[in-house]
Amino acid sequence: MRTLLTVALAVAGLALAAPQAGAEASAEPRRLAAVFVDVEGALPRLAASAMRDEAVRSLRKAGVELDWRQARVDESFDGTRHKVVLLRRAPAALARRCTMGSVIAGPDAPRAAWIYLDSVLRALRLPAAVEQMGLASTRDLGVALGKVAAHELIHAMVPELPHAASGLMSANMGRSSLISATLPVDEATRAALRPVSPMAPAAATLAAPAAAY
Ligand SMILES: [Zn+2]
Repeated sequence: MRTLLTVALAVAGLALAAPQAGAEASAEPRRLAAVFVDVEGALPRLAASAMRDEAVRSLRKAGVELDWRQARVDESFDGTRHKVVLLRRAPAALARRCTMGSVIAGPDAPRAAWIYLDSVLRALRLPAAVEQMGLASTRDLGVALGKVAAHELIHAMVPELPHAASGLMSANMGRSSLISATLPVDEATRAALRPVSPMAPAAATLAAPAAAY
């Protein structure tokens, strides 16, 4: 069975927008604030902290500084933060394809990504009884969830970006990729996430006039 990461309602195959003429990449990294909600309280604390660390690490490889914090289900929080919502099971249509995470694409899409614990456990070939797992497996689970979260947050930030052939933004990730310490982020993804300085002057405005009047 293939394990798929999909974007619900995604527009597939759109080419990346060309960089604007005269614009320069800013030295400041792009920043993202996220809040994690474990809806069913399914995740052991060690897995939740490994998930956070891996999401921060994976997004840093993509050029994004992630501010991640966990919130209770009943807690209200800043609406500008992206929500990362952990559910035990994917909706039926996605579960059949073993989807590990999804976002909703579109102009009015919510700032949210959903992660499906059972699908990630299946991809890792781990038992469903999370609370009975040993330390190594619990850590592996957290690392895998962090990668899925980073993958989906990138979809949420740049929904027009197609999947990469390999690495973090690959459409398919198996156990070895999910727990890898060295899974790369492709250049197209890093370029799409690079902030563009709005103050970058166009080259033409810096040139001296050719004639004096
Ligand atoms: Zn994806």
